Amino acid sequence: MRIVREKMGLPKLTRTSYQSCSIETLSVALVGLGALGSEIARLLGLLGVAAVALVDNDTIESVNTSQNIFFRTPDALHRPKAEVIAEKGFIYFPDTRWIPLACEIADAGFKPLKDCALIISATDSALSRVETAYVSRRLHVPMLDTGLSGPACWRGRAAWFPAESSSACYCCQLSEDRRAEVLSMTCSPVLSCLWSPENLDMPSTPTMASVVAGMAIDLAFRHGLSRKQEQSFAWDIDLDSPPELRQHSLIRSVTCPFHDFPASDVLTELDHDAPFQHSLTALGAQAIQLDWPVATDATCLSCHHNWQPLCRLGWLRRYGKCPRCGEPVKVRWHAIDRILTNTAEAGFSPADLSYSKDHLFTPVYHTR
Ligand SMILES: [Zn+2]
Ligand SMILES: [Zn+2]
Repeated sequence: MRIVREKMGLPKLTRTSYQSCSIETLSVALVGLGALGSEIARLLGLLGVAAVALVDNDTIESVNTSQNIFFRTPDALHRPKAEVIAEKGFIYFPDTRWIPLACEIADAGFKPLKDCALIISATDSALSRVETAYVSRRLHVPMLDTGLSGPACWRGRAAWFPAESSSACYCCQLSEDRRAEVLSMTCSPVLSCLWSPENLDMPSTPTMASVVAGMAIDLAFRHGLSRKQEQSFAWDIDLDSPPELRQHSLIRSVTCPFHDFPASDVLTELDHDAPFQHSLTALGAQAIQLDWPVATDATCLSCHHNWQPLCRLGWLRRYGKCPRCGEPVKVRWHAIDRILTNTAEAGFSPADLSYSKDHLFTPVYHTR
C-alpha cells in the first residue's frame, strides 16, 4: 500500500493543510452520483481517501454516459451508477475501498454509514437531502451539502454542517412550510397535502460540476474537518460576470426537529427476520423507534383497493403504485413510526417492514 501511495505522489498532501485530517484513514459516504457526485468521487479517489460508500439507486442511461469518466464505456449502460463507479474506482484509485450501495440513503441502513467521518450530499432532490441530513444528525456525522443552481448552472454552493446538535443542519435552512412538506414525504407519518413534485431535470456542465466539486471538497477537508469547524456555513460561487465567491453563516432554526435526539439513544442491531416482539422482550424495551415511518395500510383513491404496503412511507409516496389498478399512488394510508410492545405491529420483523438488513434500531425504554 505504501509503495502505491508513494508512486502516486499522495505524500505530497502531507505538505498541505489537508494533512491534518489524515485523509488516508477517512471513510466518507457520498450520496448522489450524477454530474456533481461522480466528479466528487473522482476527487476523493485522487486524494486517496480510505473508503467511499457510494449511495445512489439510479442506473446509467445513454444521456449519462458523457457525464463523467466512469460511465463512458459501453458496458456501463443500464447498470447501477454506484456499482460502475465502485468497479472503475477500484482500477483507477486502488488506495480507496469503494463500497457500492445501489439504493436510496434511507434504505442503506445505519451500519455502513455510522463510522464515516463525513457524509456528502450531491443530489438534486430536497427529499434525499433531508433524508441525508437526518442520517447525519442521527449518527452524529458532519454533512457537506453540494449543489449547482441558477440559469445554465453557473452557480454552485457547498455548505458545511458539523455534527454538533447546536449548529444548523440542512433542514434548518428550509422555510417552515417547505420543511413540513418535505418531512411529511419521508420522515413523518403525518400527511401534508402540499407536496409538489420536484423538477430533477437540472442542466449542468462538466466544467461547473468540476469547479463546485473541487470547492466543496476543499471546504470540507481543509476547513470543516481539519479545523473542526463547529459553525455551519456555506460558500456560494457565481461564475457569471463578474464572478463572485461569498461565505455565509448558517443559523440553526429553533423549529427544526433534527436537533433533539437524546444522547441516551443507543443504536442496536436487531434480528432481521425475527418479530420485533422477540427483540423487545430480549432487550426489556417498551418500544422500537422507527427512523423511517412505515405505511401499514393504504387505500387507492382511484379504485378503492385496500392493501398493506409494509414499506417505507417515503418510498411509497415517491414510487408506489396501486397493486390493482397500477395507478401511481394517490392513497389514504396509515403509517407508524414506533413499534410498541404487545401490539399487532410487534408481530412484524424488520424484514417484513422492508428495512435494510444493515439498519440499526433505537429501543425505547420508557415510552415517551
Ligand atoms: Zn436543523
Ligand atoms: Zn387503484
